[in-house]
Amino acid sequence: MGVEQKSTAGEEILAGGGEMGQLMRSHDWSNTAVGEVETWSHSLKTAIRIILGSRYPMFIWWGQSMTKFYNDAYIPVLGQRHPQALGQPASMVWAEIWDTLGPQAEAVLQEGRSSWNEELLLIMERNGYSEETYFTFSYSPVANDDGGVGGVFCACTEDTVRVLSDRRLRTLRELAAKTAEAKTVEDACEISAKTLADNPLDVPFALLYLLDDTGSRVRLVSWAGLTAGTPASPLEIEIPDSTTSGWSLSTVLAGGESLLVEVQSFGALPGGVWSESPKEAMVLPLTTPGQGKLTGFLIAGISPRRAFDDDYKGFFDLVAGQITGAIANARAYEAERQRAEALAEIDRAKTVFFSNVSHEFRTPLTLMLSPTEDALADTVVPLPQKQRERIELVQRNGRRLLKLVNTLLDFSRIEAGRIQAMYEPTDLATLTAELASVFRSTIEQAGIQLIVECSTLPEAIFVDREMWEKIVFNLLSNAFKFTLSGTITVRLRWVETQAQLTVEDTGVGIPPEELPRLFERFYRVKGSIGRSFEGSGIGLSLVQELVKLHGGTVNVTSVLGQGSCFKVLIPSGSAHLQRDRIGERNTLLSTSLGAMPYLEEALSWLPEEGAGGWGLGTREQEGSRDLGLETKQKSSPSPQSLAPSPSY
Ligand code: ADP
Repeated sequence: MGVEQKSTAGEEILAGGGEMGQLMRSHDWSNTAVGEVETWSHSLKTAIRIILGSRYPMFIWWGQSMTKFYNDAYIPVLGQRHPQALGQPASMVWAEIWDTLGPQAEAVLQEGRSSWNEELLLIMERNGYSEETYFTFSYSPVANDDGGVGGVFCACTEDTVRVLSDRRLRTLRELAAKTAEAKTVEDACEISAKTLADNPLDVPFALLYLLDDTGSRVRLVSWAGLTAGTPASPLEIEIPDSTTSGWSLSTVLAGGESLLVEVQSFGALPGGVWSESPKEAMVLPLTTPGQGKLTGFLIAGISPRRAFDDDYKGFFDLVAGQITGAIANARAYEAERQRAEALAEIDRAKTVFFSNVSHEFRTPLTLMLSPTEDALADTVVPLPQKQRERIELVQRNGRRLLKLVNTLLDFSRIEAGRIQAMYEPTDLATLTAELASVFRSTIEQAGIQLIVECSTLPEAIFVDREMWEKIVFNLLSNAFKFTLSGTITVRLRWVETQAQLTVEDTGVGIPPEELPRLFERFYRVKGSIGRSFEGSGIGLSLVQELVKLHGGTVNVTSVLGQGSCFKVLIPSGSAHLQRDRIGERNTLLSTSLGAMPYLEEALSWLPEEGAGGWGLGTREQEGSRDLGLETKQKSSPSPQSLAPSPSY
């Protein structure tokens, strides 16, 4: 009868309630501090009904003994302690953390003071080992029938999974962000190890080994939590390694899969923040995805306070992936840098070559030009007319060659950063007008109109006169070369605070798709119809470099079949110029040859009289030229540049 009554009363009170309801009904409460179910207070029964009816993890510790009641949702929190925990005093169930929990529970029971804990670290033994867990919970009083505190009520959330995954995600994020700055493989490994060292809770120790070129040895490149050179962290490991290391690298290499390795054979290893040694470590191959090529190994200790579950393994897999990616990126960066260095080296060699060759050409050329000059100037033994024409032909072509060689030399000086400008305050309008007028006779001989409009500027402009001369001559000789009829206009104007030179023609124009590359070195527009097919594609790029040396810009607008307009802007003042080159003499040999080679070349493009065509060769054979220089030089004091420079 008694038993039946008991079970009936229990059934009524503990009706429903899932697995825990069932357990509570079948539990023998007579041997517990709370006694038979029939003796339970209303408050206890109500409290039990509340927790059994909830799907949120909850428990009650009843009475001074703090006898434990809990619901289904709380079962996982207890781990292996379920179901024995039911009806046991809380101080026994949670003996290992009672020093943290006990005082809080006592405060509730004795003073009715509730507590609040957020993500509190609790090292529990619930699963047969000391386990790192995190909980958010509150203890609050449950009133007894007489109004006093009958027990402790607790709703709790286990945060362990979230805390761990946040922490691991942070490590992965930092790995990605920090290794992105790595410029070398060593850097990538070093940064990776440092980042892993910042998470000793998940990575008590880590070793990064990289495979050498022979593939038969790995080298310890970086490490965390463990010093290098211990039996567990040899500086080098031969592959196959079955006898020399306990890491089974050969097995990992052969299988291509990560391997869980027991570490007892190494003795005690660092447990990160924990006092005990890890029992296991993971050996992960660092394999470039898609290529299957092994780079090395990551050996990572497993926390002695966490089970090595799928989440933990997944974390290590992602870490290995990040490190492999970082190493691959660093390798690509290094390869790119080496390529760039090799290219720069080739470029340097080319510059040196150009420079040497130009010098080598200049010497014999000047030695050839001097006697031709002497022969032509000799009034004591004057040359007979026929010989004079021949020597003049030699002289003209010699000068042309020298002009080309000098342009190459200019380039090699610009590239090597050795070009010397001598910026002088200059009446740019007068200088430009004089330079342009040198071409007048030749241009007009071709039936082209030359308009020169150079208005006086409000201030002197700092230019290197030899360089300015090259800028004007190159643009003007191009305009002449590619204009078969119409007008060439040279203008100099003041635009805001800059001097603007425009050289405009009504020539063949340039196809729009060619314009972006026009100032590139050696670039020539295919199929351009000009007075000559000859050219090196170097003139405009030299113009651009020289303009840049003045802190200016050059650009072009052009309409195919209608003409082109080249515009150069030179800033006023001298603040933008290299201080030590203002008014400073040049110590390098001058590469200026004056107007002569440009004029001679332009003249050679004139149509052969009577032949009605354009041609260099036939024109050359005529010998003498009216360069328009003599009249010019006589009528107005020509700039120093008009005459060929004394030293070729
Ligand atoms: P080059 O005249 O020796 O070929 P440049 O660098 O001076 O080299 O000029 C590059 C190319 O730009 C020329 O080959 C020509 O096709 C085009 N170009 C330059 N100036 C003009 C112009 N005024 N009109 C049409 N095309 C031009």
